[in-house]
Amino acid sequence: MYDGLTGRYTFSCPAKGEVRVPLSGFRLLERLPGAAHPAVYKITFACACGSDHEGLVTHDDLDWAPLAGADTAFLNLMTSRLEPVSDDFLGEAARRIQSGAWPWSFFCYPEERPRPVFPSAFRLLSPGGEEVGVAVECPACAGTSVNLVSRPHVDVPFYNDRQVGVVEHVFPHDRERALAAFREELFSSTFDASVRRLAA
Ligand SMILES: [Zn+2]
Ligand SMILES: [Zn+2]
Repeated sequence: MYDGLTGRYTFSCPAKGEVRVPLSGFRLLERLPGAAHPAVYKITFACACGSDHEGLVTHDDLDWAPLAGADTAFLNLMTSRLEPVSDDFLGEAARRIQSGAWPWSFFCYPEERPRPVFPSAFRLLSPGGEEVGVAVECPACAGTSVNLVSRPHVDVPFYNDRQVGVVEHVFPHDRERALAAFREELFSSTFDASVRRLAA
């Protein structure tokens, strides 16, 4: 599902067969009702063929696979055996998180502060040249914020833009409809976005 070497998710396309898509190629993320262990997300992604398709990703693959590193083996010189690296990468990721580094973060507009986040909190992504508009449901306050960020900010764990654009807009409770409308306009109109610092 997730290829640690390329940092991409594998989906199927009716025209091209198997395609690999980075997180920034996702367009909509919806948690499916029912399945809880593991939770499953329906992903609408922008395909290289030019169309949008849907695919399913488990919660673990969404949030933890990018932290597990390359799904390959390394030669352990202590044991002279080939061993998988994923556990080491996950251990390293856990240590970095405990020391205060976050794999993903965003600026929560309702709370006026940066917050750590995982990709499962992303709700909508919209491409615009070099920037990506990402709507995030805050895990702390449940408010929705839209940040304008770089692609690596989305695609590369532990890479966080030092500052991001924050759209000054409070989303109503009918968020899905508001976001759908917002998606159309995000990069075509003049929403007020101001710059906020994410990191020192
Ligand atoms: Zn396609
Ligand atoms: Zn918040």
